[in-house]
Amino acid sequence: MTTARDRLLGLRREVELTLGRLGAEHAAVVAASRDSNADDEHDPEGATIAFERAQVDALARAASERLAEIDAALERVDSGRYGVCERCGAPIAAARLAVRPAAATCVACAAR
Ligand SMILES: [Zn+2]
Repeated sequence: MTTARDRLLGLRREVELTLGRLGAEHAAVVAASRDSNADDEHDPEGATIAFERAQVDALARAASERLAEIDAALERVDSGRYGVCERCGAPIAAARLAVRPAAATCVACAAR
């Protein structure tokens, strides 16, 4: 049987892989902007690179937040508070945890 910790650690590895990939993409975009005339705002290629860079940065930020969520969930596993809503103290439905293993609140509190 898979424990919550196993699932969270599996999820963590996935997000770390995503972050590693985004880091490589970020480096590639930065290198590309160095090669082109990115300072020239009339250069269409420079605008594309700036857009790509913003997208990569946004994805990396989202992945970092996800990582923080997972780490917080792992801490709750260690302290025995996993599966308990952080706001109201009610148990979080198993179905919700199956979909979002790092969920910190119950459905009712998340909807609030
Ligand atoms: Zn709640």
